[in-house]
Amino acid sequence: MARANAAYYAGRDPFADFITAPEISQIFGELLGAWCAVCGTGLGGVVRLVEVGPGRGTLMADMLRVLGRAAPDMTRTLSVHLVETSPRLREIQKQALARFGMPLQWHDDLADVPGGTFLLVGNEFLDALPIRQFVRTQAGWQEHFVRGTEWVLQDAPIVPADVADRGAAPGEIVETCPAAQSFVAEVAARLKRERGAALFIDYGTARSLPGETLQALREGRSASPLVEPGTADLTAHVDFATLATVAAAADVRCFGPIEQGRFLTALGAVQRGEALCTAAPGQAGAIRTGLDRLIAPERMGRLFKVLALASAECPIPPGFPETGEAGPHTGQGAGEP
Ligand code: SAH
Repeated sequence: MARANAAYYAGRDPFADFITAPEISQIFGELLGAWCAVCGTGLGGVVRLVEVGPGRGTLMADMLRVLGRAAPDMTRTLSVHLVETSPRLREIQKQALARFGMPLQWHDDLADVPGGTFLLVGNEFLDALPIRQFVRTQAGWQEHFVRGTEWVLQDAPIVPADVADRGAAPGEIVETCPAAQSFVAEVAARLKRERGAALFIDYGTARSLPGETLQALREGRSASPLVEPGTADLTAHVDFATLATVAAAADVRCFGPIEQGRFLTALGAVQRGEALCTAAPGQAGAIRTGLDRLIAPERMGRLFKVLALASAECPIPPGFPETGEAGPHTGQGAGEP
């Protein structure tokens, strides 16, 4: 699956198959830019702005536009780091960001981003990382995986702890994403050494639940994950509770997960929408429709969750309730799904 997704992002235009929040409305990236301005100003000094899985570069462009206005001093010394594996998307990002005239660097993975104070943003990045699936049986566990072009089931005498703890009944599938867990652990380890904050936004659950969520999307429609690997986007819901536990185990401050609708509303999404409508009355309908898609509970507002990690020096990240700091091993509750 990891290889199928690398081939997919390298070879196709993913945005023909699905649409993400920054592509729906500029409000998303603008509010994240304001979030970075507050955290970065609070941290002080020279800041690296890191985006993981930057897609078409739209989110970074919207963030940089706001940062230039809201935090000009920070922006003057800012360096931009894009963690992206697809050469095709790197080229598109380069074109989208050239007009800012800022130093841009691309990296294959986070380990290549130099040390120092950093702000990291990842929208719909974690869901693209490969998962493992296990099936609970009367006798124990089996792993469900792809060999060649077929699904196989194989006895799994040892399963990861977060799989065993999920409370699955016999016959139920449990998914786990070791790659997302190690990515969050890597960010948390950096936040113990360096000043900074990280923001992850993705669709998923605030509590760990059993159930299958793996899906393949091609041109906006569901496809089989097995048909022509590399031609469809493979994603799975992100288990935010486990990721919050990973951060807490590393003794890093953790905020959320909270629902995207609540987060964006707290950051002023509605007010920003109205200001845009006043500035461009002819586009008011489209602006309000885009905003509704991002924040309405029955659209992306509830399914998408937001989780922040912060170093000890960082102010409480905007958008989270003041009491939103999760205690050790808890994901602060939000509604399901
Ligand atoms: N954040 C963007 C794009 C989301 S699509 C948006 O909101 O529009 C997922 C992105 O993650 C793509 O840019 C894809 O190429 C990238 N990606 C997927 N797996 C990756 C990996 N292992 N390392 C770095 N980037 C990856």
